[in-house]
Amino acid sequence: MEKDEFSLINSISPKKYHQSSLIYGIGDDTAIIAENIEKEELICVDTLVEGVHFLEETMTWKQVGYKSLGVNISDIAAMGGIPAYYLVSIAIPAHYQAEQIQEIYRGMEQVAKEYEMDLIGGDTVLTKGPLVITVTVIGYVERGRYLLRKNAQPGDVVFVTNTIGNASCGLDLLLHYGKDYAYTEEEKEMIHFHQMPVPQIRAGRILAQSAVRIALNDVSDGLASELHELAEASDVTIIVDAERVPYHPYMLNVTTKQREEWAFFGGEDFQLVGSVAQQDWDMLKTTFEQARIPVHIIGEVVEKQNNHVLVKRKTSIERLDKKGYNHFSK
Ligand code: ADP
Ligand code: MG
Repeated sequence: MEKDEFSLINSISPKKYHQSSLIYGIGDDTAIIAENIEKEELICVDTLVEGVHFLEETMTWKQVGYKSLGVNISDIAAMGGIPAYYLVSIAIPAHYQAEQIQEIYRGMEQVAKEYEMDLIGGDTVLTKGPLVITVTVIGYVERGRYLLRKNAQPGDVVFVTNTIGNASCGLDLLLHYGKDYAYTEEEKEMIHFHQMPVPQIRAGRILAQSAVRIALNDVSDGLASELHELAEASDVTIIVDAERVPYHPYMLNVTTKQREEWAFFGGEDFQLVGSVAQQDWDMLKTTFEQARIPVHIIGEVVEKQNNHVLVKRKTSIERLDKKGYNHFSK
């Protein structure tokens, strides 16, 4: 290992660990985690490539770090789990400063701290291409309580948490006016949704602990794509009511067409979207109200029709395309 790499790893290695199941973290050939027979392990990985998944013009290095871990935590939320560990593989272009890399790790630490997650390993390489960050997360859920996409059944109501389309709205503002523009407070709030979306672990936990049948997905590529994933996995059709999609008050400033574009085909909101039997909805809604997490019905699940997702408006019902968010290739 190069001296530079050694000092970099040293500088980003945690001083202490939080998870009680950790036997050994960074420093040997692998990390070691104790087995636990009461829980099931959830493991996921996501890669962010500079220029494809993030741009220097719209995010700070710290925010890039925050989001590279956040996107995985959002996947754990979508299973109903609790995140515990993460590993980071990073391919660094030769011209990068150690300080930039450390900023990325600071961003990850910021979100990791909230869940007492431990960094337990990774890999560091140099690259002639763009910066690439691959983050792996390990989490847990109580035995049998994981929430699969394939759980939706005809008769279910379809729900989402909070509001949808904000991240995409924030990104559009940044692409239009840049990072240094004199934004209003409201615009800054929207931009924050793009730069630091909050994974919905608490909402996922409420759903897992409710112990009823729930299908769940996180909104990482726009509502259309996520609804398609749910419907395809469950072999059903979902009818989404365009007028019931919850929006942030800022969206009153834009056309219906624009906000629907952001919500259905937009970026990483990290909200949860799922379905549950009609008779279990009231109980869930009450639990969410007590936790002060907004949750809204946006549609229903029906027997499979010729398209997996339909969108209903006052006077029409039509197919909703699967097209998702294709980052900066638009
Ligand atoms: P090996 O040769 O066994 O792959 P490395 O020299 O790559 O070991 O890494 C030494 C230790 O540092 C290992 O515990 C590894 O998990 C950790 N590590 C290496 N790179 C990173 C990184 N970018 N982030 C976090 N931990 C890292
Ligand atoms: Mg290695």
